[in-house]
Amino acid sequence: NTTSMAIFPSHLEDNRRAAKRLESVVGTQVSVEKETEVLDINSSPTIEMKNVSFSYPDEERETLNGINLSFPVGTKSAIVGPSGSGKSTILSLLLNFNKVDAGEILLNHQDINDIDKESIWKHSNVVLQENHFFFGTVKDNLAIASENATNEELQDVLKKVELEHLQLNSQVLEKGANLSGGEKQRLAIARAMLKNSFIWMLDEPTSSMDSLTEAKIYEELFQLAANDTLVLISHRLNGLEKMDQIIVMEDGKVVEVGNYEDLMQKQGYFYELKQIEQSVFQG
Ligand code: ADP
Ligand code: MG
Repeated sequence: NTTSMAIFPSHLEDNRRAAKRLESVVGTQVSVEKETEVLDINSSPTIEMKNVSFSYPDEERETLNGINLSFPVGTKSAIVGPSGSGKSTILSLLLNFNKVDAGEILLNHQDINDIDKESIWKHSNVVLQENHFFFGTVKDNLAIASENATNEELQDVLKKVELEHLQLNSQVLEKGANLSGGEKQRLAIARAMLKNSFIWMLDEPTSSMDSLTEAKIYEELFQLAANDTLVLISHRLNGLEKMDQIIVMEDGKVVEVGNYEDLMQKQGYFYELKQIEQSVFQG
């Protein structure tokens, strides 16, 4: 509370001072874990990136450079761009898996470094390119997203992701070794759906699926996420007509932002990528 803060220096200040003393002795920077607040939200948040730059350790090149983006309450954003352009890195920063080198990320206007990481993850439905599955039943692998879900709810979500051929007591091997790439992705999406929190962070969640399955699952997913703040990294450029904004990345920079119609009319980089994709698909 504020009264005791005013009278006694906070633990944080103590730690900082201790770190400074240690730094002067050992001659290198000592990092201090900041005191954080638990994220407590009951509706979808606004997320912003302000002038964010980032490099992976031991990489000389900047992976992301001067990123300014806004993900307003309840909006749906797609991030597209060539492989290696920095899309996944953006997601890893938004989830505070990695820390920005410069600039800041704000969640409901609060710096995410001041927010307890685990509480951000608790409120996020996350599907990454690699998802974790363990030896156990389908039910076990789903239940980590929602302990209290009934069998009926679990079966319902399996149906939403077109996995009704799996039984709740079907065995899943470690790392999902007995599931196909597309099944693993669908199970990961099922988990995100069960969690049903206010933030969705999805990294190419349907890249191993055929486009028909993909379209059906997106329909269910967007229905569930109707009021939530959603960020989707998309490997494909079609089906983005309904997104509030499409963020186009190239070489660590945001080169275009706009909705589908804007970007097509502009005939810039997105338009160009779209032409290339079409000519590839048409052979
Ligand atoms: P995208 O998702 O658009 O394919 P990434 O964000 O994964 O791009 O990667 C952006 C750049 O950062 C690439 O050059 C990639 O090689 C590099 N990179 C990604 N992850 C790491 C890592 N853990 N360590 C070092 N470099 C990385
Ligand atoms: Mg990626």
